Amino acid sequence: MGIDLTDVNKVYQSGEVEVHALKNASLHIADKSVVVILGPSGSGKSTLLNVIGGIDRYESGTIKVEGQTLHELKDKMLTEYRRHTLGFIFQQYNLIPTLTVYENVEVGRHLSENPLNMQDTLEKVGMWDKKDKFPFQLSGGEQQRVAIARALVKNPKILMCDEPTGALDEETGKKILTLLKYVNETYGTTVCIITHNHGIGEMAHSVIRMKSGEIVENYQNETPVHPE
Ligand code: ADP
Ligand code: ADP
Repeated sequence: MGIDLTDVNKVYQSGEVEVHALKNASLHIADKSVVVILGPSGSGKSTLLNVIGGIDRYESGTIKVEGQTLHELKDKMLTEYRRHTLGFIFQQYNLIPTLTVYENVEVGRHLSENPLNMQDTLEKVGMWDKKDKFPFQLSGGEQQRVAIARALVKNPKILMCDEPTGALDEETGKKILTLLKYVNETYGTTVCIITHNHGIGEMAHSVIRMKSGEIVENYQNETPVHPE
């Protein structure tokens, strides 16, 4: 089923000024794919993820995810959708500082009706050994791994990643992107990633390029590279 956008428009009212953040965006994202979203700052990348993610409402057009038409969902159902169908990862890891790694990931598990196993999830992201540490005892890359585990343990269909490598050095960022590709291959999770890290393009099934609120390119990569 995947994700389908048809002529989606999103306008932000900024004082007197209207910002047309998405202009007639149409797009199909296949199930179990890795999608990379590129484009300059202010081009609408976060807005695209936020309308698909049910964080922002849109003015016109249609978004269908897994058979659900998002603008037809009442707030309560939209919250359920965000909780169960999706996982979110941001540039800031947003871990709870007073909870251990294990407890932070448990927060995700409690949101889910059919969570993954805690130990297995923490092992998959390489953080089982550090399950009793607190966020301040971890590097940025490790904190992002925990944030990925917290999203992943919910067993979501789709992971929405808004600049997950934005606060990391190049090499650590690459490792995080490789982990996201591994999650996609292991669990069949659809992974949508906003990034400035160009190397990721070759691992992705499709690369979307945005400019001034428009999708100006949607490149299908028939032979995505498998990271080592
Ligand atoms: P990107 O993620 O590519 O940097 P965004 O989707 O964040 O772009 O922003 C697209 C446009 O919408 C920009 O012009 C931005 O200033 C504007 N915008 C985003 N969020 C808001 C908001 N909450 N209120 C007003 N304008 C916004
Ligand atoms: P089970 O479902 O078999 O009870 P749990 O997921 O509760 O398994 O625990 C699996 C392992 O996770 C335990 O052996 C323990 O080492 C560890 N564990 C459980 N709870 C915590 C916690 N709050 N903090 C750290 N480690 C924990």
